[in-house]
Amino acid sequence: MVTQPAADRSATLKTDAAVELPDSAAPTLDAAALAELAPFGEERVVEVGDVLFRAGDQSSDFLVVLEGAVDIIRPDVEGDVLITTHVAGRFLGELTMVTGQRLYLTARVAQRGRVLAIPVDEFRRVMSSKPDLADTIFSAFVARREALRVGEGARAVRIIGSRYSREAMALRAFAARSRLPHTWIDLEGADDVEVLLADMGFRPRDTPVVVTSTGVLRRPSPGEFAEHLGLTFRPQPGYLFDLVVVGSGPAGLAAAVYGASEGLNTVSLDAFSTGGQAGASSRIENYVGFPNGISGEDLAARAAVQAQRLGARLNAPCEVAGLRVEEGFLVMVLADGSEIPARTVIIAAGARYQRLAVDNLERFEGAGVYYAATDLEARICGGQQVIVVGGGNSAGQAAIYLAQQGSQVSIVIRSGDLTHSMSHYLIERINAEPRIELITNTEVRALAGDPHLHHVELEHTPTGERRTVDCSGLFCFIGAEPATKWLAGLLELDSKGFILTDRSLPDSITSGPRFATRNPFPFEASVSGIFAVGDVRSGSMKRVAAAVGEGSSAVRSAIEHIATISD
Ligand SMILES: Cc1cc2nc3c(=O)[nH]c(=O)nc-3n(C[C@H](O)[C@H](O)[C@H](O)COP(=O)(O)OP(=O)(O)OC[C@H]3O[C@@H](n4cnc5c(N)ncnc54)[C@H](O)[C@@H]3O)c2cc1C
Repeated sequence: MVTQPAADRSATLKTDAAVELPDSAAPTLDAAALAELAPFGEERVVEVGDVLFRAGDQSSDFLVVLEGAVDIIRPDVEGDVLITTHVAGRFLGELTMVTGQRLYLTARVAQRGRVLAIPVDEFRRVMSSKPDLADTIFSAFVARREALRVGEGARAVRIIGSRYSREAMALRAFAARSRLPHTWIDLEGADDVEVLLADMGFRPRDTPVVVTSTGVLRRPSPGEFAEHLGLTFRPQPGYLFDLVVVGSGPAGLAAAVYGASEGLNTVSLDAFSTGGQAGASSRIENYVGFPNGISGEDLAARAAVQAQRLGARLNAPCEVAGLRVEEGFLVMVLADGSEIPARTVIIAAGARYQRLAVDNLERFEGAGVYYAATDLEARICGGQQVIVVGGGNSAGQAAIYLAQQGSQVSIVIRSGDLTHSMSHYLIERINAEPRIELITNTEVRALAGDPHLHHVELEHTPTGERRTVDCSGLFCFIGAEPATKWLAGLLELDSKGFILTDRSLPDSITSGPRFATRNPFPFEASVSGIFAVGDVRSGSMKRVAAAVGEGSSAVRSAIEHIATISD
């Protein structure tokens, strides 16, 4: 705890942006709840001006205000900004308590009093042993995060860049998918951006720039951004995980939830961010229990919070570049060279959409060519003419969503119709949507525009006839490729590169000594202790619900494997 000289609060704080938190975000603990918490921590007397935690700190005790008041502040070079004030009975903190993210707000005592300080390990014990309290605390953390994402708290992280910049798009997509409170400042749209940049010693060409309470990053990659926020994996020498999950799409998140809930020390690593392909979908309509559909980002965010609440660690961006077997254990080699040993591995690395074979593609990726159709991309296209390439369900979902956002959409497919590649309900919706046209027997040949995509050249393949059409966004959902290159031959794959498991394993494996006394466990791959689930698995259904089911079920197999190696 750092003590600052007591000062006149109103003279040093901008208070006009303070938010009244909704009740769900600011519960008051009653005497019985406080008595339950008391044995987990210790009481401290606090004086006006004491800083209980500071933006940039790695973590904080869980703090409950017993008497007095504590301000939550966003530090700013132009003067600290008051976000909210917690009074007696309220507790401090938000989702950073479980995600491991560095703190981005500061807590300063506004009125002398007492706090109950519960160390992080003891806080975890509260969360696992006191379900009613855990519900109240967790619900408040989630509600606070939502309030901070839209309110003044979002200004704690600012991303400044061009809406047409690929690097800026990558940072925004990472922040959005990770549900980070942040503000986007558009070079093309906001007033005085150049002045703001000049004040920091930057010019527009130095963007994207990320400004946080603790630093300014010039043109960071999502990985550097995540590291600055404390979200990347920090190796713990000598630590052996029960379960490492590769990929945090629907299958990986489900494996993390079930792994952690079954008491396995679980970490899920994703090369990009949580959500996988599902995170690229604006609306999933066929997931059981959500009659009105749910956005992939929402579904993934809920699953991520659930996994973390149960004790799983989720880290991203964190690419697994290799996997080897060493003395009976499995060792993940990360792209930065660090290694993570584990007893079992569930590979849920999914698939990636293939890129179009056209010149200049790279120049337009993120600047008109997209592999996701969420709110972020739809806003950039701003209701203009767009093209969706592909005839599968993902293309259909994307086309409907973009049309609903006001765009005129052309679906371009190589074949003559959609019936063999798209679900019936989507075809009906497309037929009924006047803003969508279907262009068959056609391929994209060229892209043009400066700096952003403006035109696309299409070829009608049977006749060879070419035409140029206006296009502010080209959404690419063609043939998914399994993310298995990093396995470098370790596992048996099918002819398209998907991982073979259990009954589809070749006879040479199933008739070998490993399976002399038992059949392969469900989802077991050709190397002991490794399981494959979701889109990356050969023969999988390529749907969210199927991926979730497989991820959950494979944990049972992982537990059985651990039992066999522990015997
Ligand atoms: C736009 C769109 C709309 C869709 N709509 C629907 C729908 O409405 N209904 C439906 O049922 N399905 C839909 N799908 C399909 C569905 O999203 C997928 O079937 C599902 O996401 C598969 O889940 P998964 O976890 O197996 O893989 P993925 O979702 O592909 O996730 C894999 C994850 O692994 C990570 N990864 C890959 N390699 C590595 C590595 N080496 N190291 C670390 N991480 C790695 C990736 O970054 C990714 O996040 C849609 C797909 C798209 C793209």
